[in-house]
This record gives sequence, C-alpha cells and structure tokens, in this order.
Amino acid sequence: MSFTVRAITLDLDDTLWPFAPIGARIDRVLHEWMLEHSPATAAMYPMAAMRELRERSFRDNPHLHHDLSALRRLTLREALEASGAGLDLLEPAYEAFYAARNQVECYPDAIDALARIAARVPVAAVSNGNADLERIGLMSHFAFQLGSREHGAAKPEASIFHAACVRLGHDHGEVLHVGDHPEMDVAGAARAGLRSCWINRTGATWEHPELQPDLQFDTLAGLADWLDAHLGDLPPADDPFSDPTVSLHGDLRTPRNPA
Ligand SMILES: [Mg+2]
Repeated sequence: MSFTVRAITLDLDDTLWPFAPIGARIDRVLHEWMLEHSPATAAMYPMAAMRELRERSFRDNPHLHHDLSALRRLTLREALEASGAGLDLLEPAYEAFYAARNQVECYPDAIDALARIAARVPVAAVSNGNADLERIGLMSHFAFQLGSREHGAAKPEASIFHAACVRLGHDHGEVLHVGDHPEMDVAGAARAGLRSCWINRTGATWEHPELQPDLQFDTLAGLADWLDAHLGDLPPADDPFSDPTVSLHGDLRTPRNPA
C-alpha cells in the first residue's frame, strides 16, 4: 500500500515504551514516599488498597478520564484526608508520583526508529496519558506534544486528532496516526479521517471487522523501514515555515533533519 504521509501523530505509552513496569514503579515509589512522609496513609492504604482507591476514582469520575493527573490528585487527596494527613502533602506526593511516571524504558527499537521517522516527517505526540517528553528527554524528536488533558478530550474522539492535524498544518488524510491500541489509536484515527498504523508488538489479532489499519508492524522500526521505502521518491514535505497554517500556530520546532 502506498499513500502520502506528510506528518505523523504518535501514541506514547505501549508504543514507545511499555507502561506496565511504570505502573508497578509508581505503586512502589508512592508507597515508599507515604511510609516516609505519612506513615498513617501508608498503613491505611498499602499498595493494593491504593490501587483500588485509584480504580474507584477512575470509575466514579468519567468526566475526568481525559485528565489522569486530576484523577491521580483526587486519589492522593482522598487517601491523605481519610488517613488524617495534612493536605500540604498533596503536591509533594504528586511530584513523587510524577517523577516515577516519567522514568521510562523504551522498547529496544524505539529511539532509533523514532529518530529515523522524525528525520523524514514532523512527528507530534498525541497521548491520553500524562507523560512529559521534556522530562523524559525525547522532546527533541517531536514537533509538539498534545495530551488529552490540555486538549479537553481523549482519543478515540476525533477532535484530538483534528487538533493535532491543524497544528501540523496538514489535511487529515495526509497524517498517519501510529499507536498500539486498536480502538483509541487505530479505529479512532481512521474514523477521524487520518491514516492509521497499528504497532502490534504482542502479536494480537485484529478484532474490528468494520475497519483495518492502513499499516501494521510489530515494531516501530518496521514503520521507519516502510517510510524509507515509500517516501524516498515522493516530493519533500512542505517546509513548515513557509506554510501559513503552521506558522500562524507557531508551535513547530525547527525540523531536525528536514526530509
Ligand atoms: Mg498506547
């Protein structure tokens, strides 16, 4: 299959790095933090209880599903209040969480593949999570990062994909969204009119009979190889700084290595 890809929107969790080890680290780090700063909270909410509280906060607050930071603060506030701790601990506890959340270990192929992809087309991060690419040290590969929290709605809603396309300065059909999740990433992007690429690292079976991803690879390197093979003879992507749509928004960094 061959089509024009002028820009890419890229999911983060479980696409560039696995989330499960991060989730386990967060539980551990927060518990150790509570043991040191609020032993009563640690006693009342050992790791499993804290996890249950967080899951309940998530279930009870569907209006906040696009804002995982707000949900985390709600959980921490409830745990501190219920255990009689001062709410002056809320932001320091959140900061302990956030430091652990941004310690990521990328998949072995991910950083090299990301650099190869970003050398060809502008890449924007589009994520429902609350990772901070500046803290992680990967922001130099990205034109910008758009989170569901700042946008106000989460994938698979079309509006977050469309907002990213506007900032990239390209029509929906010229932007390829890349991610691991069949519904949030692939189906969401396809319904929003973007091209879609499923990064299926686990060998999962595709279960949306009504649509198919435009591309599917078992690593991000597979996508970098495909771009090398298919973009080589296409005219270069528009210079973002000569494109009035993009310069009006002013968010793009200087492309590291314009294709
Ligand atoms: Mg993901």
